[in-house]
Amino acid sequence: MDVDLTYPKEAEEFRAVIAEWLAENLPEGWGTEGFSMTRDERLAWSDEWAKRLHAGGWICASWPEEYGGKGLSLLEQVVLQEEFARVEAPLRADFFGDTLVGPTLLQWGSEEQKQEFIPRILSGTIAWCQGFSEPDAGSDLASLTTRAELDGDEWVINGQKVWTTQAQYADYVFLLARTDPDAPKHAGISYLLVPMHQPGVEVRPIRQIDGSSEFNEVFFSGARCPKDNVVGGVNNGWKVAMTTLGFERGSSATTGHRRFARELDRIVAEAEGRGKDADPLIRQRLARAWSKVKIMQINGYRTLTDALNGTHHTAALGATNKMFWSEMHKETMELAMDVLGPDGQILRGSDAEADDGDFRPRRGASTYPVDDLQASYFFSRSETIWGGTAEIQRNIVGERVLGLPKEPKAEAKA
Ligand SMILES: Cc1cc2nc3c(=O)[nH]c(=O)nc-3n(C[C@H](O)[C@H](O)[C@H](O)COP(=O)(O)OP(=O)(O)OC[C@H]3O[C@@H](n4cnc5c(N)ncnc54)[C@H](O)[C@@H]3O)c2cc1C
Repeated sequence: MDVDLTYPKEAEEFRAVIAEWLAENLPEGWGTEGFSMTRDERLAWSDEWAKRLHAGGWICASWPEEYGGKGLSLLEQVVLQEEFARVEAPLRADFFGDTLVGPTLLQWGSEEQKQEFIPRILSGTIAWCQGFSEPDAGSDLASLTTRAELDGDEWVINGQKVWTTQAQYADYVFLLARTDPDAPKHAGISYLLVPMHQPGVEVRPIRQIDGSSEFNEVFFSGARCPKDNVVGGVNNGWKVAMTTLGFERGSSATTGHRRFARELDRIVAEAEGRGKDADPLIRQRLARAWSKVKIMQINGYRTLTDALNGTHHTAALGATNKMFWSEMHKETMELAMDVLGPDGQILRGSDAEADDGDFRPRRGASTYPVDDLQASYFFSRSETIWGGTAEIQRNIVGERVLGLPKEPKAEAKA
């Protein structure tokens, strides 16, 4: 398959429009050497930026115009993401809303659900969390036991979720609950939209290795949501959840590699500064890391070409994508720690920059101030787990892409 890296004239014109908007709206000095913001400035800017993105119509700009999007074409979306990535400007209000539940609602939601939730997702005025995993239902998600029962016009929910990222800040959870306990396990599940601020919901933060508490246990005891807040039909939640997981495992074709490329530049600079670039084994590992980032970039262009041509030559790449980047990143961050040597084991962040209590602090908690590389090293450990582990991705590739026999089911214990 030929890959053509030139963009049509209209795409380049659209690129100029975005570049101009960015130049007008980003803070002065953004991206230049020495540019910095205090914690308070950063928080204020983050709020202001979400408003500007919304006013510009850039959040979820591919969504249909009738729901407040711009209905951008695939190529326009790519150009939009490339321009934002080029200047390192964030292009989202709330990951769970923009990337997971929003697109799922567009595909499966009723008209009323779309009218109620989509505008609030676009304006960044509603925060979400994902209530899928339970203590005994992670990879084997269909084993979930949280129950929802109808009581008049409301669902009543009882059970426990775990690893619920951002639950402490969320207004709503998109939650999987068993609504028919007698049906086969994939068949009796529904996908509900449940308000978090109510007496039957208790959020208990889990303290992580870097001192922050990004995710939580969430307990539901008699929590309620309206009967109509079921997405895609009662007992059809498994299919709806697979749609959400598809969005979670995807990455942006031509920009996904960029954050890894930038980080690798930083690791190479550390290696040069410490004379480690003379070590043949480190050099080899750096070259391997660089090659993998390049593979990701080229595969991104292949996927884009495929999508624009309406062909399916690279469908298998989609299935390997999450596994590829998460394992690559884990390996690269192990290399980063080896480059730092003993320095990697002391706290390198500064208290002043730490964001104690914030969601995914850039440099750990104030009680445990790690720097960007250390924080990324820690987080890389989780990337082969969330959204479906690398082992589960391999099962999917084996069974659905390569057509290998299905994995045997574990025998029930006598
Ligand atoms: C940072 C982070 C954020 C998260 N955020 C959320 C969230 O917001 N909402 C949410 O619902 N969940 C969230 N999760 C949970 C995540 O989806 C689960 O951790 C994941 O699905 C794995 O489930 P588990 O932890 O129960 O591990 P298990 O399923 O118990 O797996 C344990 C090990 O066994 C392996 N394994 C299991 N089954 C198989 C098999 N059939 N074949 C081969 N190997 C197998 C796994 O690969 C893994 O190595 C988050 C997780 C992390 C790490």
